[in-house]
Amino acid sequence: MDPFVLTIVAFALFGACFGSFLNVCVSRWPAGLSVVRPASRCPKCEREIRWHENVPVVGWMRLGGKCAGCALPISIEYPIVEVTVAMLWAGAAYLGGYGLDALRLATFATIMLGITLTDARHYVIPDGFTVFGFFFVLITSVIAFFNGTPEQWFATPIDAMYGACAGAGFIAIIGWLGEVALKKEAMGFGDATLMAVVGAAVGPTRAIITVFVAAALGASTFLIIVYPISWLRAQRAGREFEPPLVPFGVFLAPAAVVMLLGGHALLDWGGTLLGVPLH
Ligand SMILES: [Zn+2]
Repeated sequence: MDPFVLTIVAFALFGACFGSFLNVCVSRWPAGLSVVRPASRCPKCEREIRWHENVPVVGWMRLGGKCAGCALPISIEYPIVEVTVAMLWAGAAYLGGYGLDALRLATFATIMLGITLTDARHYVIPDGFTVFGFFFVLITSVIAFFNGTPEQWFATPIDAMYGACAGAGFIAIIGWLGEVALKKEAMGFGDATLMAVVGAAVGPTRAIITVFVAAALGASTFLIIVYPISWLRAQRAGREFEPPLVPFGVFLAPAAVVMLLGGHALLDWGGTLLGVPLH
């Protein structure tokens, strides 16, 4: 087989396995549990999941989406996440070819997906994702630097340091001003840890633009979709409408991946438009 196709297939298979692990992280970290021990069990009958039932996607399909002990339904979210991560990894191999760039892109995108899921469901950005992501991005930037490969997506080591500070600092400033304006907490500390990782990946300029892109995404999603739906629900139930909190990480994380891949092109375009170089 063509080595390029082989790489993509290998990345997809690795991705499916990491997707399976991501499911464990997403379901355990917000509850403060270890992802290593104990082995996965059915929450109802406590039957341990066998290794062959843990094979990504296939295991879920062979069980018919039910626990083999008590027929408790197993969420379809598990195989969906596995397929999604497999596609992220295949896409990273397609864009990045062999080697470090593809691995960095795939890992970064997987972490961002995990953060999107936990923040959407629990308003939590687990340190497991951000601490690992931070060191992964920094260490691989140093490796890439000494390899001498020109950077196409990720920041250089120096820019990574500036980016981490700019990203975390910028979101902290917004949170501070928001808190003063709204008289309540506007931004969780988790958002600052997330933006440290994002800034380390994309450098200072693209990190700050990531926040603006995420704010635009989040504002439009909540004003057009989420608020009207919860307002209608409150009306129907005869409750007073209380606007739901915006989990900002849900929008920061995907915006970061977009800026990682397309940020340079966007800055070039903006620079030409304004007549000044933006980076
Ligand atoms: Zn069971």
